[in-house]
Amino acid sequence: MDDELVYCGKCGETKPRSAFYSLQHSTAPRRPCKACLLADKRARYATQDGDRISHAQVLREKYNLTPRQYEAMLKAQQGLCAICRKPETARGRGGAPRRLAVDHDHRTGEIRKLLCQRCNLVTWAVEENPDLLDAIRYYLLSYQRGFPPR
Ligand SMILES: [Zn+2]
Ligand SMILES: [Zn+2]
Repeated sequence: MDDELVYCGKCGETKPRSAFYSLQHSTAPRRPCKACLLADKRARYATQDGDRISHAQVLREKYNLTPRQYEAMLKAQQGLCAICRKPETARGRGGAPRRLAVDHDHRTGEIRKLLCQRCNLVTWAVEENPDLLDAIRYYLLSYQRGFPPR
């Protein structure tokens, strides 16, 4: 019985029965094998850690974009933000420059262009409140000399 060999379709290995747990209420081996279950668990844990989520995964899950599509957008914009025309200056937690953010219409999900973090934030805020830009302009103007104009 101990010599029973079981095939795990996940890692493609044939292992002794002891490398597998049992199915509930049964003595039948539970697939995949213990090692594969552990690897799965580790992978799930790793993706819960924000820093380890790969850029490709974010693109796929949030925007339904492939890395290739992202690179094409980046190239079309010469690697610059579509609004301020500058490269991203913000840095991530690891100190590496962040990638330009994918701007999208929050209601329709339509992908627009790649924006730097600052422009992305302002765009989002103005989209939420179209009067905001005028209010900011007025606010800044009010601190300039000779305001209000006579
Ligand atoms: Zn396995
Ligand atoms: Zn920008």
